[in-house]
Amino acid sequence: TEDDFTFAKEYAAHATYAIDNARLYREAREAISLRDEFLGIAGHELRTPLTALQLGLQRLIRESATPGDPTRLSKWVATCQRQGERLGRLVGDLLDVSRITSGRLPMVLEEMDLSALVEEVAARMGPELEKVRCPLVLKLQSPLPGRWDRSRLDQVLTNLLGNAMKYGQGRSIEVSAMATPEGVCVRVRDEGIGISSEDQARIFGRFERAVSERHYGGLGLGLWISRQIVTQLGGHIRVESTQGQGSSFTVELPRWVED
Ligand code: ADP
Repeated sequence: TEDDFTFAKEYAAHATYAIDNARLYREAREAISLRDEFLGIAGHELRTPLTALQLGLQRLIRESATPGDPTRLSKWVATCQRQGERLGRLVGDLLDVSRITSGRLPMVLEEMDLSALVEEVAARMGPELEKVRCPLVLKLQSPLPGRWDRSRLDQVLTNLLGNAMKYGQGRSIEVSAMATPEGVCVRVRDEGIGISSEDQARIFGRFERAVSERHYGGLGLGLWISRQIVTQLGGHIRVESTQGQGSSFTVELPRWVED
C-alpha cells in the first residue's frame, strides 16, 4: 500500500542516516587516535635531541671548568650544534604542516644553480655521512641554472639525503642531477633497506611511516612536505624501490617557475 511504501522510504532514509553517522563516528575516532599517536611520537622525537643537547651542555660546562684539551671542548660544541639543528628541523617540519594545511607555503623564487645547491647540501651533511661511514657519489651536470626557491629545495634535498643515510645501512649513496628536455632531474639513490610496493604508495602521505620501519624514528612528515614543495614548483617526486635492495627518489622540476 501507499502507507507501507512511505514507511519503507522513511525507514531506508533513517537507516542510511544511521550508517552515515556510524561511519562519521568511526572516522572521527580514527582521526582522534591518529592525532594522539602523533602527539606521542612528536613528543618523543623532540625529547631525543633535547636530551642530547642538555647532556652536551652539561659536558661543555664541566669541560670548560677544568683546563683540558680544547679539541674536546669543540667536539661538545659540535654535538650541541648538531642536536640544536635537529631540533630546529623537527620544529620547522611541524610549522610547515600548519602552513601547508592552511595554504600558506609561499615560494621565494630566485635564479640559482641546482648542482651547486646539491654540492652545498652534501658538504653540510658530510660529517654525518662520515660518522656512519657512508660513501657518497655525486654525478652532477654543472651548472644547472634555473629559477626556484633555494631554501625549500635545500629542505627537499636534505630530507632525501637524510633518508638515504638513515635507511641506507651505511652503503653507498648516489646523488645525480641533470638537465632533461622538460627541465631538470635530481635523483637520490641508496642501497639500503628499500620499501615494499604497498608502502611506496603510502610514504608520501602525511604522518606516514612504513609500518615495518617504526624503530627508525621520525615524524613521517619529510616526504609529505617535500612533495608539497615540489608540486608547488610545478614538478613531481616519485620513488622506485625494491625491498632489501635500496630506493631511488627522483625529483623532476621545470627550470623556470613563474611567480
Ligand atoms: P621519516 O623518515 O621522518 O619517518 P619521511 O616522510 O621522510 O619520514 O619518510 C616516510 C617513510 O618512508 C619513512 O618512515 C620510511 O619508512 C620510508 N622511507 C623514506 N625514505 C626511505 C629510504 N631511502 N629507504 C627506505 N625507506 C624510506
